[in-house]
This record gives sequence, structure tokens and C-alpha cells, in this order.
Amino acid sequence: AKQCGRNGYSIYDTSMRQRAERALTIQRGLLTAIEDGSLSLHFQSKYDARTGAIVGAEALARWTHPELGAVPPMEFIAVAERSGQIGRIGEWVIREACRQIEDWRERGLPPIRIAINLSPLQLNQPGLVDTAARIVAEAGSDPSLIMFEVTESMAMENAERTTLMLQNFRTRGFEFAIDDFGTGYSSLAYLQKFQVRQLKIDRFFIQALDEGGTEARAIIAAIIELAHTLAMEVVAEGVETATQAELLRTLGCDQVQGYYLSLPMPPDEFERRCLLGAPV
Ligand code: C2E
Ligand code: CA
Ligand code: CA
Ligand code: CA
Repeated sequence: AKQCGRNGYSIYDTSMRQRAERALTIQRGLLTAIEDGSLSLHFQSKYDARTGAIVGAEALARWTHPELGAVPPMEFIAVAERSGQIGRIGEWVIREACRQIEDWRERGLPPIRIAINLSPLQLNQPGLVDTAARIVAEAGSDPSLIMFEVTESMAMENAERTTLMLQNFRTRGFEFAIDDFGTGYSSLAYLQKFQVRQLKIDRFFIQALDEGGTEARAIIAAIIELAHTLAMEVVAEGVETATQAELLRTLGCDQVQGYYLSLPMPPDEFERRCLLGAPV
């Protein structure tokens, strides 16, 4: 039993050290990721559930480290938060999204609204609204073409503060979406006060539609009714099958996003496959 315990401990110890080393490698790599061009944005379309027209896209950060290869955004965003780099990287994401919007506009492609994810620490940075407004103004972009996504749990954590901040963002012309909806605990009173444009139903519920799914269907129907009562659009994320897409449409979901419809892709591919030929 003693030996077993010692082995257990040493395995634990090794994996702890490996994880710490990986985090440190990520932290160091992030210091130059913007300058060396290894950080990029991919775009995933959001479609009108009824007409199938493209109505927007979500910008998703991608990073390839020279030794580690592709590092998932969940992982490097978390490291950026812990190492105090999230401000700089978050600002780059906004700047890069604006640059892309302007590039498409200058070349006559149809304007679509780009969604940008905000991390918990980023949302709590005091100057966020001013910074975002400045970056967008410097790029010459229209703030109404930017939609920020914050998760339900982030928004509800300090709902009073979120309410004021969202008001401030609205004054500057920005739109908002509540991401991963249904996985946290929402106060309906605050949900009403937030006055966001979109609710994104977490993919957990969308995936559950396939496995019999009567409960998931009832929950999704309830979320859609709630959102529409509060004059919000509903987006289903993580749509992976035709069955899910069809069910969501009949339930009255406004927009759909997911691998079944379109993968996240680099800007040039997104432009070719999603923007060209899209109705202006
Ligand atoms: P999220 O905001 O919930 O983004 C949706 C995630 O689901 C993305 O993963 C997307 O690639 C993936 N996805 C899209 N369609 C499907 C589908 O049909 N099935 C499945 N299983 N997954 C699908 P990704 O790109 O790995 O991003 C993961 C998370 O990392 C995001 O979750 C977001 O929280 C964070 N993230 C990504 N980019 C950024 C960024 O620029 N800034 C911040 N703060 N966070 C970001
Ligand atoms: Ca999101
Ligand atoms: Ca989400
Ligand atoms: Ca998420």
C-alpha cells in the first residue's frame, strides 16, 4: 500500500511539474505572439435559422507555438489571465477583428457583425469600454458591427456592475450577447436589465436534442420564449447535425452556429466560402 501511495505521489508530482512547465512555456511564448504573427483569428459563421443567410461571425483566437503546436484558446487565455497578459491580448483581438472588418469593407464585401469573446478578467478591467471604443475609432470601424460575448456566469457574478457596464457599452454603440446560456444561474430581473441583443444557448442543450431529447427540447423552447419576451434574439451554438438544425428552426430559434453549418476558418477561407456570394 505504501509503494502504491509513493508511485501515485510521484506520478502526480511529474504531471504537476509538466503542467507547470507547459504553462510557463505558454506564458513566455505569449510575450512575443503578437509581434511574431503566431496569434491569429478564425471566423465561424452565424446563420439566420429560417433563411440560411449569413448574419454574422464569431472571431475565435488561434495560436500556434513553435514547440507545442496549436494551443487551445481556453488554455492560452487562462494563462494570459494568470500572467497579466490578458489586457494586451484582448486588445489585439479587438484591433485584429476591426482590421479584418475594414479590409472586407474596403474590398466591397457585405458587412457582417463580428462577435468577440471577452474573458472574465478582461470584463473586470476598469478602462475596457474606453479602450474598446478607442480601438474601434482608430480603425475607423462602426461599433454596431461589433458584438461582444460574455458568458452567463461572468455576467451574473456581479450583475449590478454588469448592468452599468453594458449600459456604457450600449451608449458607445456596441452590441452584446450572453454566451453559454443555461449553464449558470441567471437572475431574470437582471437578464431584463442587461438589454443584450442575443442569448446564445449552450451547446450542451443542443447536443442533448439528439438523444431522445424531449427534456432538452422543452428547455430550449422555454429559453426561446423567455428571450423573445425580453426582445432578444436566440442563437443555438454547437449545431452538429441536420436534425438539430431543423428542430431548432421549428422551435423558433433565430440563428444557428456550429460544425454542421460551418467550421471556424482562417479569414481568406472564410471570405471565399462564406462572404463571397452572401447576399449584400
Ligand atoms: P466559446 O465562446 O463558447 O466558443 C465556441 C467554441 O465551440 C469554439 O471553440 C468553437 O470552435 C467551438 N465550436 C463551434 N461549433 C461547434 C460545434 O458544432 N461543436 C463543438 N463541439 N464545438 C463547436 P474554441 O475556438 O476552441 O474556443 C473555446 C473557447 O475559448 C471559447 O468558447 C471562448 O470561451 C474562448 N475563446 C476563443 N477565442 C477567444 C478570444 O479571442 N478571447 C477570449 N477571451 N476567449 C476566447
Ligand atoms: Ca463565444
Ligand atoms: Ca459559447
Ligand atoms: Ca464557452
